[in-house]
Amino acid sequence: MAGGEPNHKYNVVFVLGGPGAGKGTQCLKIEETFGYVHLSAGDLLRAERQKMDSTFREEIEKHIKDGSIVPVEITCSLLRQAMEESNKDNFLIDGFPRNKDNLDGWNHVMDSVAVVRKVLFFNCPQDVCVGRCLERGKTSGREDDNMESLKKRIKTYTDSTMPIIEHYREKNLVAEINANQSTEEVFNDVKKVFEALAS
Ligand code: UDP
Ligand code: MG
Repeated sequence: MAGGEPNHKYNVVFVLGGPGAGKGTQCLKIEETFGYVHLSAGDLLRAERQKMDSTFREEIEKHIKDGSIVPVEITCSLLRQAMEESNKDNFLIDGFPRNKDNLDGWNHVMDSVAVVRKVLFFNCPQDVCVGRCLERGKTSGREDDNMESLKKRIKTYTDSTMPIIEHYREKNLVAEINANQSTEEVFNDVKKVFEALAS
């Protein structure tokens, strides 16, 4: 895939959907099959939070626990750094942009170097998502996979992330996937999107 303009170094697919919709699981399969580099904004933030010398530790910690959204300067610079270090061109950005601050911040610094090719939207009923996160919480060690944090994460998703999906829908960039199926069935639908992108 060539960039749309000479300066556009990076091809990006944003991957959005509620907590527990299956973004991370599907991204691993897409990475394997289509050679995209998977960058999970949440994973990058969790890794940054572990760094003893990071000045953002407490701020990240607080937002993750509250299910609120870390300021874009932090998230976007982690994403950009990971993109540059990878020396690759095609990226799946999982769990970002989550609100208008994220979207504006991304556009501000990345519009000139990256093209958003698609927004994969994993649509899944809330009760199914909650069930998956609580199940994952038994082994994930994530302090936000519990009912209290989940309620806040779902509210953030509904209030702040859904409008971002709608923003991209108006630009005809959204591929909506029924995420209330088995992993294999979902991936079958996902494959069609990436086959179309590659042709
Ligand atoms: N988060 C954030 N900005 C991002 C991505 C994640 O602030 O761009 C924070 C936010 O507090 C979120 C948490 O990290 O609730 C976990 O995000 P993750 O994407 O790992 O959760 P998932 O949606 O995959 O369950
Ligand atoms: Mg995830």
